[in-house]
Amino acid sequence: MSETSVALEAERYLQAVVEAEPQEGECLVCFVTRMVEEHGCDTTYLWARRFRDLRSPTATGLEKRYWERLITCDCLIGHAHRLVQELMVRDVHTDELEPPLHQPSCAGVRRTSTQACANWERVRRA
Ligand SMILES: [Zn+2]
Ligand SMILES: [Zn+2]
Repeated sequence: MSETSVALEAERYLQAVVEAEPQEGECLVCFVTRMVEEHGCDTTYLWARRFRDLRSPTATGLEKRYWERLITCDCLIGHAHRLVQELMVRDVHTDELEPPLHQPSCAGVRRTSTQACANWERVRRA
């Protein structure tokens, strides 16, 4: 990639960050998962911070809380949660429960909450 296209790419990314906004009532986990899917993870809490700044600016302990659970970037926030069983779809071939093709719309949280909505449950670590 040339130097200009790298700069352009970075600029487009920054623009995406500025424009990214959680939908009305959307929870942090739905927002971060959606953004990582669309734009990727830059190995920081870019999207989680964006959410916090817009919705819950006083939740300054957010990164620390995740860090302590070894969730060190946005995509790991997604991996630390899975959809509750009712939202999974059964694969007719393998009979296994799979996440649906499209992320279900957020079940909604209080505007200033940084908790996951009812769509998600925490993945327990072994
Ligand atoms: Zn990541
Ligand atoms: Zn949600």
